[in-house]
Amino acid sequence: MIDVCLLGTGGMMPLPNRFLTSLMVRYNGKCVLIDCGEATQIAMKKKGISSKPIDVICFTHFHADHVSGLPGMLLTMGNAERTEPLLIVGPKGVERIVNALRVIAPELPFEIKFKEITTDEETFEIEGMPGFSITAFKVNHNITCYGYSCSLKRQGKFNVEAATAAGIDRRYWNGLQKGETFTLEDGRVITPDMVLGDARKGIKLTYTTDSRPTDSIVRNAADSDLFICEGMYGEPDKQAKAREYKHMTFYEAAKMAKDAGVKEMWLTHYSPSLVNPAEYLPDAKRIFANTKAAKDGRSIELRFED
Ligand SMILES: [Zn+2]
Ligand SMILES: [Zn+2]
Repeated sequence: MIDVCLLGTGGMMPLPNRFLTSLMVRYNGKCVLIDCGEATQIAMKKKGISSKPIDVICFTHFHADHVSGLPGMLLTMGNAERTEPLLIVGPKGVERIVNALRVIAPELPFEIKFKEITTDEETFEIEGMPGFSITAFKVNHNITCYGYSCSLKRQGKFNVEAATAAGIDRRYWNGLQKGETFTLEDGRVITPDMVLGDARKGIKLTYTTDSRPTDSIVRNAADSDLFICEGMYGEPDKQAKAREYKHMTFYEAAKMAKDAGVKEMWLTHYSPSLVNPAEYLPDAKRIFANTKAAKDGRSIELRFED
């Protein structure tokens, strides 16, 4: 199960009733935050989530509405006496930018590690999150920007007959099911594929904001259980503006959701001028029926099928 919370849904600036777009993804006791604009820590507090256990922060790009909340967030995490290292992932220059922001948060009781994304697409795993991987993929904004896809693999069913026939002792069953390999006293090696059936459908979540529509988004969002996508503008006459500032309209997001064959799409990163996103939802739904105009704090538990 993956726990998802869209902490805020605003673009450009936080508003009293709409915080900046930021996504929290939790799995196996670990926590990944994607983007951290001004007031993200207030959005977390509102949902009753503590910032102490954030393990990874991924940045889509280095515009202020996606990064300016970091120094305050780091200080709060430090005040909570967190000591575990924090991994920060982002486009080229992530270490330089975070260190510049850290001039005002210099002393922290935990180490910050960095992962710089330098290619158009990169998949990586997070320690302590078995079966879980994150793919960063380049999108098309006016500075380098990435979307992120989180995938949780699901192993095949445990085959009791196969395990018994292979003479594998019961005490190894649980570990094998979790993907572990064992070397027995007699030197024999037992591996998960000896006792597990074919892999089953896992869980996929894709988040992208601040971009024109791209093939990379459609490809990476393909078959996602949940696709969270920028919908900066709902007003049909803002199409030219979306193109000029490298953002997206509701209708462009809906078209990508349809092309990618996702199950459900949440719109986010609304322009401050867009007071009532729901007003334009019916037209977006005509393109992709399962479109939601997300509000701050919208949450879901993504579970394996059956
Ligand atoms: Zn933005
Ligand atoms: Zn931007």
